[in-house]
Amino acid sequence: MIDSGGGKDTCVQVALRIRPQGNREKLEGSRVCTSVLPNDPQVTIGGDRSFTYDHVFDQPTPQHVVYESCVEQLVDGLFDGFNATVLAYGQTGSGKTHTMGTAFDTAVVQNEQDLGVIPRAIHHTFRKIVDLKAQALEKGILEPSFDVSVQFVELYNDDVLDLLSDDRNSSANIRIHEDNRGEIALHGVEQRSVIDLDGTMEILKNGALNRTVASTNMNEQSSRSHAIFTLHLKQQRVVPSLLEDVVEGKTGDLEMEMLTAKFHFVDLAGSERMKRTGATGERAREGISINVGLLALGNVIAALGGANGKVSHVPYRDSKLTRLLQDSLGGNSRTLMIACCSPSDSDFVETLNTMKYANRAK
Ligand code: ADP
Ligand code: MG
Repeated sequence: MIDSGGGKDTCVQVALRIRPQGNREKLEGSRVCTSVLPNDPQVTIGGDRSFTYDHVFDQPTPQHVVYESCVEQLVDGLFDGFNATVLAYGQTGSGKTHTMGTAFDTAVVQNEQDLGVIPRAIHHTFRKIVDLKAQALEKGILEPSFDVSVQFVELYNDDVLDLLSDDRNSSANIRIHEDNRGEIALHGVEQRSVIDLDGTMEILKNGALNRTVASTNMNEQSSRSHAIFTLHLKQQRVVPSLLEDVVEGKTGDLEMEMLTAKFHFVDLAGSERMKRTGATGERAREGISINVGLLALGNVIAALGGANGKVSHVPYRDSKLTRLLQDSLGGNSRTLMIACCSPSDSDFVETLNTMKYANRAK
């Protein structure tokens, strides 16, 4: 469990990230309506409403700070068999994709300092594998072996689309399957084995571009769909507790264990209200379907982080999104919600909505 700063152990952490103002907002004379106290994870909006989260990242916060303060530890947990989920929540344009690190459609070549959460997590994973093997060698014990694979899907109107498949019509054959241990798997979705950073980044990029291509053809689908990139880690290693005993001479036997864990990185659909985008017909249907997912997610997370840490009924089955993430939210899993928002007064209403939603999740 992660210490949430206040000394309370919880499996759900909430961070609020405020993106910098864009040039357009500055030109239009938008004022900044958010303020953050230094050294205090508290944000004030409109001068009189304040919210406290596990982390608050104000405008100039660089990508590596976000990653190191709340994501890196989740990647480490993966190596001890803990599932993890990072969710980027917020209205369209609030910085979700930038934070996740899947904005490959921009003409600008990304600097290393601009890399978001997913590329950093992939990098950390492969570096850790090298380190763990080296450590085993040093101790003279059997090297651990690792099996890393990835999936990348989009959830749109309750359909699962495989972003790593060329067959865009494959969604009919995709099924969410729950086995008798409660583990959720997607059947009919490509799962690609990966062995290094570059290869994984190539897959991530192709999947992200697949999402973008579809979005220009389908009314900016990306703001209405959830994108889920999943990193699976299978590991065979010497049981660490027994290893200590061997070193201390208590026992001469080493036992191997097999650990599996997965990390979901979720770029959620835009949280903006339908009213604002003037949605009608097909668009409104999409809007409703998204709201069901985000609503259900809010309820699940609120139930998990519930009063006194007591978990009552967790309504996973209320949406396909929460169903898909079921074994990676709650239980032994670690969840981080990064609520993204704009600092501008022109976005005041949506930003306040995001802050309230994130506040419920704490
Ligand atoms: P969303 O995915 O929520 O719709 P984006 O991630 O696409 O939003 O961000 C919208 C715009 O703001 C993009 O041009 C992006 O580069 C920029 N942006 C978002 N967050 C940051 C940040 N922390 N620093 C610099 N630019 C950012
Ligand atoms: Mg986006």
